[in-house]
Amino acid sequence: MTDRIIYLDSAASTPMRPEAVEAMMPYLSDVYANPSGSHRFARRARRAIDEARDVVANVAGVRPNEVVFTGCGTESDNTALSGAVSRTGGVAVCSAAEHHAVLHVVESHGGIVVPTDRFARIDLDALARELDALREAGRDVAVVSVMAVNNEVGTVTDVAAAAAVVRHHAPQALIHTDAVQAPSWLDLRTVAPHVDLLALSAHKFGGPKGVGILIERDGPRIDPLIIGGGQERERRSGTHNVAGIVAAATALQLTDAERVGEIARLTTLRNRLVDELVARLDGVVETIPRNDPAVTKVAGSAHVCIGGVESEALLFLLDEAGVCASAASACASGAMEPSHVLAAMGVDREIALGALRLSLGHTTTDADVADGLEAIVVAVTRLRDRASAVS
Ligand code: PLP
Repeated sequence: MTDRIIYLDSAASTPMRPEAVEAMMPYLSDVYANPSGSHRFARRARRAIDEARDVVANVAGVRPNEVVFTGCGTESDNTALSGAVSRTGGVAVCSAAEHHAVLHVVESHGGIVVPTDRFARIDLDALARELDALREAGRDVAVVSVMAVNNEVGTVTDVAAAAAVVRHHAPQALIHTDAVQAPSWLDLRTVAPHVDLLALSAHKFGGPKGVGILIERDGPRIDPLIIGGGQERERRSGTHNVAGIVAAATALQLTDAERVGEIARLTTLRNRLVDELVARLDGVVETIPRNDPAVTKVAGSAHVCIGGVESEALLFLLDEAGVCASAASACASGAMEPSHVLAAMGVDREIALGALRLSLGHTTTDADVADGLEAIVVAVTRLRDRASAVS
Protein backbone atom coordinates (compact mmCIF):
# COMPACT_ATOMS: atom_id res chain seq x y z
CA MET A 1 0.00 0.00 0.00
CA THR A 2 1.19 3.47 -0.86
CA ASP A 3 0.16 6.75 0.75
CA ARG A 4 0.31 8.69 -2.50
CA ILE A 5 -3.09 9.26 -4.13
CA ILE A 6 -3.13 9.38 -7.92
CA TYR A 7 -6.59 10.75 -8.46
CA LEU A 8 -8.10 9.79 -11.82
CA ASP A 9 -11.75 9.82 -10.76
CA SER A 10 -12.88 13.41 -11.31
CA ALA A 11 -16.18 12.33 -12.84
CA ALA A 12 -17.04 10.79 -9.46
CA SER A 13 -16.09 13.90 -7.52
CA THR A 14 -13.58 16.72 -7.71
CA PRO A 15 -11.39 18.15 -4.97
CA MET A 16 -12.75 21.46 -3.75
CA ARG A 17 -11.13 24.55 -5.20
CA PRO A 18 -9.22 26.44 -2.47
CA GLU A 19 -11.10 29.62 -3.40
CA ALA A 20 -14.39 27.83 -2.77
CA VAL A 21 -13.18 26.58 0.62
CA GLU A 22 -12.09 30.09 1.51
CA ALA A 23 -15.39 31.61 0.35
CA MET A 24 -17.47 29.27 2.50
CA MET A 25 -15.50 29.69 5.74
CA PRO A 26 -17.19 32.88 7.06
CA TYR A 27 -20.59 31.24 6.60
CA LEU A 28 -19.54 28.23 8.66
CA SER A 29 -18.24 30.34 11.53
CA ASP A 30 -19.31 33.99 11.71
CA VAL A 31 -22.44 34.36 9.58
CA TYR A 32 -24.45 31.50 11.02
CA ALA A 33 -27.89 33.12 11.01
CA ASN A 34 -30.80 31.42 9.30
CA PRO A 35 -31.16 33.32 6.01
CA SER A 36 -34.95 33.16 6.26
CA GLY A 37 -34.94 35.32 9.37
CA SER A 38 -35.88 39.00 9.49
CA HIS A 39 -32.98 40.53 11.42
CA ARG A 40 -29.89 42.13 9.93
CA PHE A 41 -27.74 39.07 10.62
CA ALA A 42 -30.15 36.92 8.64
CA ARG A 43 -30.16 39.51 5.87
CA ARG A 44 -26.37 39.15 5.56
CA ALA A 45 -26.74 35.42 4.98
CA ARG A 46 -29.59 36.06 2.55
CA ARG A 47 -27.46 38.56 0.63
CA ALA A 48 -24.77 35.92 0.20
CA ILE A 49 -27.31 33.53 -1.31
CA ASP A 50 -28.62 36.25 -3.63
CA GLU A 51 -25.09 37.00 -4.82
CA ALA A 52 -24.44 33.31 -5.39
CA ARG A 53 -27.68 33.08 -7.34
CA ASP A 54 -26.59 35.97 -9.57
CA VAL A 55 -23.28 34.22 -10.28
CA VAL A 56 -24.96 30.93 -11.18
CA ALA A 57 -27.51 32.73 -13.37
CA ASN A 58 -24.73 34.53 -15.21
CA VAL A 59 -22.75 31.33 -15.86
CA ALA A 60 -25.89 29.49 -17.03
CA GLY A 61 -27.22 32.45 -19.05
CA VAL A 62 -30.56 32.47 -17.21
CA ARG A 63 -32.41 34.84 -14.88
CA PRO A 64 -31.54 34.74 -11.15
CA ASN A 65 -35.13 33.83 -10.27
CA GLU A 66 -34.75 30.70 -12.41
CA VAL A 67 -32.00 29.33 -10.14
CA VAL A 68 -33.09 26.97 -7.35
CA PHE A 69 -30.57 25.66 -4.80
CA THR A 70 -31.09 22.03 -3.81
CA GLY A 71 -29.27 19.39 -1.75
CA CYS A 72 -27.46 17.52 -4.57
CA GLY A 73 -27.58 16.64 -8.26
CA THR A 74 -29.76 13.65 -7.52
CA GLU A 75 -32.31 15.88 -5.82
CA SER A 76 -32.27 18.30 -8.76
CA ASP A 77 -32.93 15.43 -11.19
CA ASN A 78 -35.61 13.89 -8.96
CA THR A 79 -37.35 17.24 -8.52
CA ALA A 80 -37.37 17.93 -12.24
CA LEU A 81 -38.84 14.57 -13.20
CA SER A 82 -41.17 13.84 -10.29
CA GLY A 83 -42.22 17.49 -10.19
CA ALA A 84 -43.20 17.46 -13.86
CA VAL A 85 -45.08 14.16 -13.55
CA SER A 86 -46.85 15.32 -10.39
CA ARG A 87 -47.91 18.63 -11.97
CA THR A 88 -49.30 17.21 -15.23
CA GLY A 89 -49.94 13.52 -14.65
CA GLY A 90 -48.11 12.89 -17.93
CA VAL A 91 -45.42 10.39 -18.85
CA ALA A 92 -41.69 10.81 -18.15
CA VAL A 93 -39.25 9.79 -20.89
CA CYS A 94 -35.48 9.35 -20.88
CA SER A 95 -32.74 7.29 -22.53
CA ALA A 96 -31.31 4.01 -21.28
CA ALA A 97 -27.90 5.62 -20.64
CA GLU A 98 -29.05 8.22 -18.13
CA HIS A 99 -27.61 8.37 -14.62
CA HIS A 100 -29.73 6.42 -12.14
CA ALA A 101 -30.81 9.73 -10.59
CA VAL A 102 -32.90 10.11 -13.77
CA LEU A 103 -33.40 6.55 -14.99
CA HIS A 104 -34.74 5.14 -11.73
CA VAL A 105 -37.16 8.05 -11.34
CA VAL A 106 -38.54 7.56 -14.84
CA GLU A 107 -38.88 3.83 -14.18
CA SER A 108 -40.55 4.43 -10.81
CA HIS A 109 -43.19 6.54 -12.55
CA GLY A 110 -43.77 3.83 -15.17
CA GLY A 111 -42.21 6.03 -17.85
CA ILE A 112 -40.63 5.23 -21.19
CA VAL A 113 -36.95 4.38 -21.61
CA VAL A 114 -35.68 5.05 -25.14
CA PRO A 115 -32.69 3.17 -26.62
CA THR A 116 -29.40 4.90 -27.35
CA ASP A 117 -27.00 4.81 -30.26
CA ARG A 118 -23.62 3.07 -29.93
CA PHE A 119 -22.17 6.22 -28.35
CA ALA A 120 -24.71 6.33 -25.46
CA ARG A 121 -26.68 9.21 -26.99
CA ILE A 122 -30.44 9.02 -27.07
CA ASP A 123 -31.62 7.62 -30.43
CA LEU A 124 -33.52 10.59 -31.86
CA ASP A 125 -35.55 8.51 -34.34
CA ALA A 126 -36.61 6.14 -31.56
CA LEU A 127 -37.47 9.16 -29.39
CA ALA A 128 -39.67 10.62 -32.12
CA ARG A 129 -41.41 7.25 -32.59
CA GLU A 130 -42.07 6.88 -28.85
CA LEU A 131 -43.46 10.41 -28.59
CA ASP A 132 -45.74 9.80 -31.62
CA ALA A 133 -46.93 6.50 -30.14
CA LEU A 134 -47.77 8.20 -26.84
CA ARG A 135 -49.73 10.91 -28.64
CA GLU A 136 -51.63 8.31 -30.66
CA ALA A 137 -52.44 6.48 -27.41
CA GLY A 138 -53.83 9.75 -26.01
CA ARG A 139 -51.12 10.05 -23.36
CA ASP A 140 -49.52 13.40 -22.54
CA VAL A 141 -45.78 13.61 -22.08
CA ALA A 142 -44.81 15.45 -18.89
CA VAL A 143 -41.05 15.59 -19.38
CA VAL A 144 -38.27 14.29 -21.59
CA SER A 145 -34.82 14.04 -20.00
CA VAL A 146 -31.65 14.10 -22.12
CA MET A 147 -28.28 14.18 -20.39
CA ALA A 148 -25.75 16.75 -21.63
CA VAL A 149 -22.61 14.71 -20.88
CA ASN A 150 -22.59 11.02 -20.03
CA ASN A 151 -20.90 10.38 -16.68
CA GLU A 152 -19.38 7.03 -17.65
CA VAL A 153 -18.12 7.35 -21.20
CA GLY A 154 -18.03 11.15 -21.55
CA THR A 155 -20.19 11.47 -24.67
CA VAL A 156 -21.71 14.87 -25.36
CA THR A 157 -25.34 14.82 -26.48
CA ASP A 158 -26.59 17.54 -28.80
CA VAL A 159 -29.26 18.78 -26.40
CA ALA A 160 -30.51 21.35 -28.92
CA ALA A 161 -31.17 18.62 -31.51
CA ALA A 162 -32.95 16.42 -28.97
CA ALA A 163 -35.00 19.41 -27.78
CA ALA A 164 -36.06 20.13 -31.37
CA VAL A 165 -37.39 16.57 -31.68
CA VAL A 166 -39.34 16.95 -28.43
CA ARG A 167 -40.76 20.37 -29.37
CA HIS A 168 -41.95 18.90 -32.67
CA HIS A 169 -43.39 15.58 -31.46
CA ALA A 170 -44.57 16.50 -27.93
CA PRO A 171 -44.83 20.29 -27.79
CA GLN A 172 -46.39 20.34 -24.32
CA ALA A 173 -43.56 18.32 -22.73
CA LEU A 174 -40.94 19.94 -20.54
CA ILE A 175 -37.32 19.24 -21.48
CA HIS A 176 -34.87 18.41 -18.73
CA THR A 177 -31.14 17.97 -19.04
CA ASP A 178 -28.93 16.36 -16.45
CA ALA A 179 -25.95 18.68 -16.91
CA VAL A 180 -24.18 17.44 -13.78
CA GLN A 181 -21.07 16.43 -15.76
CA ALA A 182 -21.16 19.45 -18.08
CA PRO A 183 -19.78 22.64 -16.45
CA SER A 184 -16.09 21.79 -16.89
CA TRP A 185 -16.56 21.06 -20.59
CA LEU A 186 -19.57 22.90 -22.00
CA ASP A 187 -20.61 26.54 -21.86
CA LEU A 188 -23.95 26.24 -20.05
CA ARG A 189 -25.13 29.37 -21.88
CA THR A 190 -25.27 27.23 -25.03
CA VAL A 191 -27.30 24.48 -23.32
CA ALA A 192 -29.80 26.27 -21.06
CA PRO A 193 -31.72 28.09 -23.82
CA HIS A 194 -32.86 24.76 -25.25
CA VAL A 195 -34.33 23.29 -22.06
CA ASP A 196 -36.88 24.02 -19.35
CA LEU A 197 -35.03 22.28 -16.52
CA LEU A 198 -31.29 21.82 -15.97
CA ALA A 199 -29.59 19.99 -13.09
CA LEU A 200 -26.09 20.67 -11.67
CA SER A 201 -24.09 19.37 -8.72
CA ALA A 202 -21.38 21.44 -7.02
CA HIS A 203 -18.99 18.60 -6.16
CA LYS A 204 -18.44 17.87 -9.85
CA PHE A 205 -16.82 21.27 -10.45
CA GLY A 206 -14.71 21.96 -7.38
CA GLY A 207 -17.53 22.87 -5.02
CA PRO A 208 -18.73 21.02 -1.94
CA LYS A 209 -20.76 17.83 -1.81
CA GLY A 210 -24.38 18.23 -0.84
CA VAL A 211 -25.17 21.28 -2.97
CA GLY A 212 -27.23 20.96 -6.13
CA ILE A 213 -28.73 23.48 -8.50
CA LEU A 214 -31.91 23.18 -10.53
CA ILE A 215 -32.49 25.76 -13.23
CA GLU A 216 -36.26 26.07 -13.75
CA ARG A 217 -36.89 28.28 -16.76
CA ASP A 218 -40.05 30.38 -17.10
CA GLY A 219 -41.42 28.64 -14.04
CA PRO A 220 -42.65 27.38 -11.86
CA ARG A 221 -44.06 24.67 -14.10
CA ILE A 222 -43.32 21.70 -11.83
CA ASP A 223 -44.36 20.73 -8.32
CA PRO A 224 -41.74 20.93 -5.58
CA LEU A 225 -40.34 17.67 -4.24
CA ILE A 226 -39.50 18.96 -0.76
CA ILE A 227 -42.20 21.02 0.88
CA GLY A 228 -42.16 22.79 4.21
CA GLY A 229 -41.01 26.30 5.05
CA GLY A 230 -41.38 27.57 1.49
CA GLN A 231 -37.75 28.57 0.87
CA GLU A 232 -36.59 29.16 -2.70
CA ARG A 233 -39.96 30.75 -3.49
CA GLU A 234 -41.80 27.56 -2.56
CA ARG A 235 -39.71 25.51 -5.02
CA ARG A 236 -37.45 23.82 -2.48
CA SER A 237 -38.09 24.03 1.22
CA GLY A 238 -35.42 23.55 3.86
CA THR A 239 -33.00 25.93 5.54
CA HIS A 240 -30.37 27.00 3.03
CA ASN A 241 -26.86 25.57 3.14
CA VAL A 242 -25.45 29.10 2.95
CA ALA A 243 -21.76 28.15 3.10
CA GLY A 244 -22.22 25.42 0.50
CA ILE A 245 -24.15 27.68 -1.84
CA VAL A 246 -21.53 30.43 -1.64
CA ALA A 247 -18.76 27.90 -2.32
CA ALA A 248 -20.69 26.34 -5.21
CA ALA A 249 -21.07 29.71 -6.92
CA THR A 250 -17.37 30.49 -6.44
CA ALA A 251 -16.39 27.13 -7.93
CA LEU A 252 -18.78 27.47 -10.86
CA GLN A 253 -17.48 30.92 -11.74
CA LEU A 254 -13.87 29.70 -11.73
CA THR A 255 -14.79 26.62 -13.75
CA ASP A 256 -16.47 28.82 -16.34
CA ALA A 257 -13.53 31.23 -16.50
CA GLU A 258 -10.93 28.46 -16.85
CA ARG A 259 -12.88 26.13 -19.11
CA VAL A 260 -11.24 26.85 -22.46
CA GLY A 261 -7.68 26.60 -21.11
CA GLU A 262 -8.48 23.50 -19.09
CA ILE A 263 -10.01 21.72 -22.06
CA ALA A 264 -6.81 22.29 -24.05
CA ARG A 265 -4.58 21.15 -21.18
CA LEU A 266 -6.61 18.08 -20.31
CA THR A 267 -7.14 17.01 -23.92
CA THR A 268 -3.36 16.67 -24.23
CA LEU A 269 -3.11 14.69 -20.99
CA ARG A 270 -6.10 12.46 -21.78
CA ASN A 271 -4.79 11.70 -25.28
CA ARG A 272 -1.38 10.79 -23.87
CA LEU A 273 -2.97 8.48 -21.33
CA VAL A 274 -5.14 6.62 -23.83
CA ASP A 275 -2.51 6.49 -26.58
CA GLU A 276 0.07 5.02 -24.21
CA LEU A 277 -2.35 2.48 -22.79
CA VAL A 278 -3.24 1.31 -26.28
CA ALA A 279 0.44 1.26 -27.32
CA ARG A 280 1.76 -0.56 -24.26
CA LEU A 281 -0.98 -3.10 -23.62
CA ASP A 282 -2.64 -5.49 -26.04
CA GLY A 283 -6.40 -5.56 -26.23
CA VAL A 284 -7.16 -2.03 -24.99
CA VAL A 285 -10.06 -0.37 -26.79
CA GLU A 286 -11.06 3.25 -26.35
CA THR A 287 -14.78 2.88 -25.68
CA ILE A 288 -15.75 6.11 -27.46
CA PRO A 289 -13.08 6.64 -30.13
CA ARG A 290 -12.08 10.28 -29.80
CA ASN A 291 -11.15 10.63 -33.47
CA ASP A 292 -14.55 9.48 -34.73
CA PRO A 293 -16.12 12.54 -36.37
CA ALA A 294 -19.60 11.17 -35.59
CA VAL A 295 -19.23 11.81 -31.87
CA THR A 296 -17.93 14.39 -29.40
CA LYS A 297 -16.61 13.44 -26.01
CA VAL A 298 -15.32 15.58 -23.20
CA ALA A 299 -11.62 16.20 -22.61
CA GLY A 300 -11.60 14.68 -19.14
CA SER A 301 -12.90 11.30 -20.19
CA ALA A 302 -10.59 8.33 -20.81
CA HIS A 303 -12.86 5.29 -20.82
CA VAL A 304 -11.32 2.05 -22.06
CA CYS A 305 -12.21 -1.62 -22.12
CA ILE A 306 -9.29 -3.92 -21.37
CA GLY A 307 -9.54 -7.40 -22.83
CA GLY A 308 -9.05 -10.41 -20.58
CA VAL A 309 -9.14 -8.39 -17.37
CA GLU A 310 -12.01 -7.94 -14.93
CA SER A 311 -12.52 -4.38 -13.75
CA GLU A 312 -13.02 -5.40 -10.15
CA ALA A 313 -9.66 -7.14 -9.89
CA LEU A 314 -7.96 -4.29 -11.72
CA LEU A 315 -9.51 -1.62 -9.48
CA PHE A 316 -8.30 -3.58 -6.44
CA LEU A 317 -4.70 -3.59 -7.66
CA LEU A 318 -4.90 0.04 -8.72
CA ASP A 319 -6.23 0.98 -5.31
CA GLU A 320 -3.24 -0.75 -3.72
CA ALA A 321 -0.99 1.33 -5.97
CA GLY A 322 -2.78 4.53 -4.93
CA VAL A 323 -4.66 5.00 -8.20
CA CYS A 324 -8.29 6.11 -7.82
CA ALA A 325 -10.36 5.09 -10.83
CA SER A 326 -13.70 3.44 -11.39
CA ALA A 327 -15.40 0.85 -13.55
CA ALA A 328 -18.90 2.15 -14.06
CA SER A 329 -20.45 5.15 -12.37
CA ALA A 330 -19.27 5.61 -8.80
CA CYS A 331 -22.62 4.48 -7.44
CA ALA A 332 -22.47 1.22 -9.35
CA SER A 333 -18.82 0.31 -8.78
CA GLY A 334 -18.45 -2.67 -6.53
CA ALA A 335 -21.09 -4.59 -8.45
CA MET A 336 -20.14 -7.32 -10.89
CA GLU A 337 -22.85 -6.48 -13.40
CA PRO A 338 -21.49 -4.50 -16.34
CA SER A 339 -22.67 -0.92 -16.52
CA HIS A 340 -26.13 -0.15 -17.88
CA VAL A 341 -24.53 2.53 -20.08
CA LEU A 342 -22.26 0.04 -21.86
CA ALA A 343 -25.22 -2.34 -22.17
CA ALA A 344 -27.30 0.45 -23.75
CA MET A 345 -24.46 1.10 -26.20
CA GLY A 346 -24.55 -2.55 -27.22
CA VAL A 347 -21.07 -3.34 -25.86
CA ASP A 348 -20.60 -7.08 -25.49
CA ARG A 349 -20.86 -8.23 -21.84
CA GLU A 350 -17.39 -9.86 -21.84
CA ILE A 351 -15.80 -6.65 -23.10
CA ALA A 352 -17.83 -4.47 -20.73
CA LEU A 353 -16.54 -6.45 -17.74
CA GLY A 354 -13.08 -5.03 -18.50
CA ALA A 355 -14.25 -1.41 -18.39
CA LEU A 356 -12.03 1.19 -16.77
CA ARG A 357 -13.11 4.80 -16.34
CA LEU A 358 -10.26 7.24 -15.84
CA SER A 359 -11.49 10.79 -15.53
CA LEU A 360 -9.37 13.92 -15.41
CA GLY A 361 -10.23 17.24 -13.82
CA HIS A 362 -8.96 20.58 -12.61
CA THR A 363 -6.31 19.12 -10.29
CA THR A 364 -4.98 16.43 -12.64
CA THR A 365 -1.26 16.86 -13.32
CA ASP A 366 1.20 15.43 -15.85
CA ALA A 367 2.63 13.32 -13.01
CA ASP A 368 -0.81 11.86 -12.18
CA VAL A 369 -1.15 10.69 -15.76
CA ALA A 370 2.41 9.37 -16.03
CA ASP A 371 2.28 7.51 -12.70
CA GLY A 372 -1.28 6.31 -13.22
CA LEU A 373 -0.31 4.91 -16.59
CA GLU A 374 2.65 2.98 -15.15
CA ALA A 375 0.46 1.56 -12.38
CA ILE A 376 -2.20 0.43 -14.85
CA VAL A 377 0.36 -1.26 -17.11
CA VAL A 378 1.87 -3.08 -14.12
CA ALA A 379 -1.55 -4.13 -12.75
CA VAL A 380 -2.92 -5.38 -16.07
CA THR A 381 0.28 -7.31 -16.77
CA ARG A 382 0.12 -8.89 -13.33
CA LEU A 383 -3.50 -9.95 -13.79
CA ARG A 384 -2.79 -11.40 -17.21
CA ASP A 385 0.29 -13.27 -15.96
CA ARG A 386 -1.77 -14.65 -13.10
CA ALA A 387 -4.54 -15.76 -15.48
CA SER A 388 -2.11 -17.50 -17.84
CA ALA A 389 -0.38 -19.26 -14.90
CA VAL A 390 -3.77 -20.64 -13.77
CA SER A 391 -4.92 -21.79 -17.21
N1 PLP B 1 -26.16 12.92 -12.71
C1 PLP B 1 -24.94 12.62 -13.17
C2 PLP B 1 -24.69 12.60 -14.63
C3 PLP B 1 -23.90 12.32 -12.28
O1 PLP B 1 -22.69 12.01 -12.74
C4 PLP B 1 -24.18 12.33 -10.89
C5 PLP B 1 -23.14 11.95 -9.91
O2 PLP B 1 -22.43 10.96 -10.08
C6 PLP B 1 -25.47 12.69 -10.46
C7 PLP B 1 -26.44 12.96 -11.40
C8 PLP B 1 -25.81 12.77 -9.01
O3 PLP B 1 -25.25 13.92 -8.42
P1 PLP B 1 -25.03 13.97 -6.82
O4 PLP B 1 -23.84 13.13 -6.53
O5 PLP B 1 -24.80 15.42 -6.51
O6 PLP B 1 -26.28 13.48 -6.20
